[in-house]
Amino acid sequence: MSRRLLTVFVLILTLALPSALRAETDGAPAAKKSAPKKKTTRAKGSPARKNVARPGRKAVRATPPPPVADKEPQKPAEVAELRHWSTPDYTRIAVTLDREVTFEKHEIAKSPGSAVLSRIYFDINGARLASGVKDIPIGDGLLKTARVAQYRPDTVRVVLDVENIRDYKIFTFSDPFRIIVDVKGERPTEISALSPTLKAAVPPVETVGRELLPVVPKEPVVEPPREQPAPRPKVRTAVKPGKIRRIVVDPGHGGKDPGAVGPLGMQEKDVVLAMGLSLAKKLRDELGIDVVMTRSTDVFIELQERTAIANQVGADLFVSIHANASLNRNASGIETYYLNLAKTEKAAQLAARENGTSLEKVSLLQAVLFDLMANYKLNDSAHLAEEVQKLLHKRLAAHYPTVKNLGVKQGPFYVLVGATMPSILVETAFISNEKEETRLGDPQYQDQVAEGILEGISAYIAALK
Ligand SMILES: [Zn+2]
Repeated sequence: MSRRLLTVFVLILTLALPSALRAETDGAPAAKKSAPKKKTTRAKGSPARKNVARPGRKAVRATPPPPVADKEPQKPAEVAELRHWSTPDYTRIAVTLDREVTFEKHEIAKSPGSAVLSRIYFDINGARLASGVKDIPIGDGLLKTARVAQYRPDTVRVVLDVENIRDYKIFTFSDPFRIIVDVKGERPTEISALSPTLKAAVPPVETVGRELLPVVPKEPVVEPPREQPAPRPKVRTAVKPGKIRRIVVDPGHGGKDPGAVGPLGMQEKDVVLAMGLSLAKKLRDELGIDVVMTRSTDVFIELQERTAIANQVGADLFVSIHANASLNRNASGIETYYLNLAKTEKAAQLAARENGTSLEKVSLLQAVLFDLMANYKLNDSAHLAEEVQKLLHKRLAAHYPTVKNLGVKQGPFYVLVGATMPSILVETAFISNEKEETRLGDPQYQDQVAEGILEGISAYIAALK
């Protein structure tokens, strides 16, 4: 029976029942008929629309089919963490739950009829607040605080007290379910002003199973300085360092997330870390560019945090490094992605794998992707992807003549959503292909990949006016 038919059936049955009996069968907590109706404001074209429960529909849909006597009401979802990352013109808030929920977003204007917001809040239905999840003072000029409370026995309310913002987006990621709010401010990021505050060495902390979250320190997470202050032997003259001062290198996966695993047992997280470290060293030593790594050890970093780090440190480019996998063990080659709708089933499947979610969730993301790409540097990202793919392939082909150039592609990768700088994801070989898996483990191949990406970045920078 379709959901609609079932709904109609339940509705008829409910109406037909004598009121005394109805009172008994309506025992399920979600079946509240008198849920207070609030004016729900939605941002224009906001993807949050998908998640806004419509009061009338919700009440009916939530009514379980009779009989309900021996049915346990569903355990509430747990709000497991509330985090934030902030810069002078961008703040990301992430609320992580242990399963998918619906929520209602609301806005409160500074004064009646005003477009200026004083508060954004959302009510998460059927949810309980985990102990240890606390309010966060933000005070970054955009938001004052993020507050969280058990508003009703089955509702958690998250309130963002607004200082001064230009725009914001609310969207969700799956597996685990996350509600993310990206807030944009008025002030431009001044990288030069940010530089002196960058200090060494707050290595990313392991986030597995963490319940009580420390407030993210104001200082961005920055790679510790290399052993020796790097001599810069061969700074390439074609590069105009003024344009690109800081690059975030993001080795995929890590910690509890091994990424793809090859037939010989090689783990993606290990080889991409080796290549990422090598690329970072080359960027510093040869181009004199400041590099921030999202991880420089075997730790788990959530995808929404990686993008947030890039925005937080005012990165000029973001490069995520991965190894590909396919059920077809013969699949091989290199490809470079930027954020956009997947044009092929293969690209969508890859995005699902890299996002740690299902193909179905990827299509849900695709449906709202355009709205999330408002600040994405689409053309610059495509250009960066072209240069990196071209020069990476050229370099590898010189040493490994059979290496396939799979070209530049597009896909809805979580790690690129919300990035405000040109950003790409490089698939450096197929770890699922035994021959390429062996290559990936070879320090020489790793070095050639890092060199090829470096050359691509150099070409991109050289082309900037
Ligand atoms: Zn990956």
